[in-house]
Amino acid sequence: MIIVKGFIKMKKTFLGILASCAVLFASCAYESDRKPCSVSFFAMDTYMTVTAYGKNAESALNDVSEKIIALEKMWSATDENSEVYAINNSGGKTVPVSKETEALIEYALEISEATDGALNITLYPVLKAWGFTTGEYRVPSDDEIAALLENTGCEKVRLDSGSVTIPEGMQLDLGAVGKGYAGDIAVSILKERGVNSALLDLGGNIQAIGSKPDGTPWRVGLRNPFDGGSLAMLEVSDCAVITSGGYERYFTDENGSTYCHILDPENGRPAESGLASATIIGSKGRLCDGLSTAVFVMGQEKAEQFWRGYGGFEMVLVTKGGEVYITEGIEESFTLNGEYPDTRVNVIR
Ligand code: AMP
Ligand code: MG
Repeated sequence: MIIVKGFIKMKKTFLGILASCAVLFASCAYESDRKPCSVSFFAMDTYMTVTAYGKNAESALNDVSEKIIALEKMWSATDENSEVYAINNSGGKTVPVSKETEALIEYALEISEATDGALNITLYPVLKAWGFTTGEYRVPSDDEIAALLENTGCEKVRLDSGSVTIPEGMQLDLGAVGKGYAGDIAVSILKERGVNSALLDLGGNIQAIGSKPDGTPWRVGLRNPFDGGSLAMLEVSDCAVITSGGYERYFTDENGSTYCHILDPENGRPAESGLASATIIGSKGRLCDGLSTAVFVMGQEKAEQFWRGYGGFEMVLVTKGGEVYITEGIEESFTLNGEYPDTRVNVIR
């Protein structure tokens, strides 16, 4: 028997209620540019809230929510009308795609290569076998996993101008990068409309435009992966803060073994890298989203090497033992919650 943790169930029910509420239109208080305007909606399997300041904020926010919902319609693996669904059910035929889908897949393939395959957008059939796509969790046999892994591999994805071709039997899942990419598109829309202060919370993926209207940095809370409370506070301006964690979706079997939704592409099993969560801080949502998943798969040591070699981002790693590691670039802006049991923060240099 498989036991699904209560938190996950509660979260889904809550989100389900929100989903039926559809889009809530932007609500604003107009007296000055310092008053917030915000929109909340359900998309990409999560609850999103975007808050912006300034006189164009209201119309820009409505455009943002419409755009993210439109992107979800293209990128959902389960919606029969989506572009990803068409690719996944093409039987090996070439499928025309929008420029956004082409750009997202191109970017995901680039990060896959840069991370030595830790990010892999071709694992959908393996995720299905574990039940992560439906909530009907099970532990597949080694043979079943081995057979499914035969049909994976980012190098087999062919991207031409305006079209995608994957071999028959392969299926894509853009869940590890889509929200970050959608966040970048949302940020562009807001900036084009002259918004220079905004905070986007796309289901826990945080993207900040500028600073708070009073000029001070945004204060972003990082979650304690063990109890859902607060791990730390990070002060940021103009950047993305995106976390991947085993706690976000997982199940436990009758022996008490826990299986999380992020798979190690090498063996098709839930990643056992020793990390409880990985947070990436950087200028683009797509980079942070792709890397948070990849770094979670890599584990602490490989992630440190990767950070030194690839660069261009900062990170916060929490090991399963509760140790906290941060990269030196955020030393000044990171404040550990005083109640966190392990008070030492290890700085990666
Ligand atoms: P994230 O929350 O951004 O880390 O994305 C996790 C989601 O990406 C999972 O729920 C799966 O749908 C998918 N996924 C799981 N493992 C991988 C992987 N190694 N590479 C790419 N996508 C993955
Ligand atoms: Mg990700």
